[in-house]
Amino acid sequence: AAKHAGRNTHFFFNESMQVEAQHHLLVNADLLRGLAADEFELYYQPILNIKTRQVDKCEALIRWNHPEKGLVMPDFFIPVAERTGSIVGLGNWVLQQACKDMRVFLEAGLDIKISVNRSASEFYSIKAYETWKNIFKDNEVDSHRFIFEITESLFMGRHAAHIDVISALHEIGVQFAIDDFGTGYSAINYLRNYPVDYLKIDKSFVQDLLTSKQDRMLVEVIIKMGQVLDIVVIAEGVEELGQLDLLQQFDCDYIQGYWLSRPQPIMQIIDRCLEPINQQDDYVI
Ligand code: C2E
Ligand code: MG
Ligand code: MG
Ligand code: MG
Repeated sequence: AAKHAGRNTHFFFNESMQVEAQHHLLVNADLLRGLAADEFELYYQPILNIKTRQVDKCEALIRWNHPEKGLVMPDFFIPVAERTGSIVGLGNWVLQQACKDMRVFLEAGLDIKISVNRSASEFYSIKAYETWKNIFKDNEVDSHRFIFEITESLFMGRHAAHIDVISALHEIGVQFAIDDFGTGYSAINYLRNYPVDYLKIDKSFVQDLLTSKQDRMLVEVIIKMGQVLDIVVIAEGVEELGQLDLLQQFDCDYIQGYWLSRPQPIMQIIDRCLEPINQQDDYVI
């Protein structure tokens, strides 16, 4: 907001705002140090196709192996990186690493797509398209194997560059998923106008699926809407078999959640995916 406020506007920072700003600067400086020191890692969480019982996608989730703090979760540093602009460099690192990991998955014989999270601010510049296209090219991986997870808010912005970057990527085969669907602006008009391939139902709806009639109906409606619009629906945050049963009843396409697997380092995921999922004792569909 400060950028657009004009010259004669005075800003009054209270103490807590100042403390927060200082905290952000410290985390940001540490993050840039950590990036240079190669402290980040991508964990993967399998996404299961309910109908075929195959894991054919995995979501990449960033972790920070911090020398003092131990394993640091993204909620601690992604919001900071978004505010300081470091998300652009961090996001490029994520895509680069996901491309390297794609080669590892393929060499292990796993035919999968990788879904990577993208922040809205990574789309501000049309240069993002060239940068990402070159990352695919330099790593010799097929851009069709990637899904970009974005949030509804991206479509609400007035930045034309966003849409151009999305369209250009879609043309080279990158698919798009709306992450945390249902928690955003709830203007669903954009679903008709933009290339959306997947909806990821936010885990907050899935959590109370068995206990809240309202959440159950909302989930059912989202799945129906996906069918009408020809958009594949993924339910996030599935922790219990009962939730899976209900989602299957509603004809949901995919599930993701602790019930199947927590996010884990790539080698663990490869081992886990190579075991036939349908031999898992509690996987009775
Ligand atoms: P998200 O994209 O919605 O990812 C799903 C989050 O839910 C992950 O948290 C995952 O570990 C967690 N989760 C998965 N299954 C379950 C479950 O059954 N129950 C519960 N309670 N949680 C589950 P995580 O890994 O801490 O990531 C948090 C958020 O950080 C992500 O939410 C995503 O928005 C962001 N993020 C992660 N990696 C990246 C990245 O590389 N780039 C950007 N821009 N954001 C990222
Ligand atoms: Mg996500
Ligand atoms: Mg996300
Ligand atoms: Mg989500």
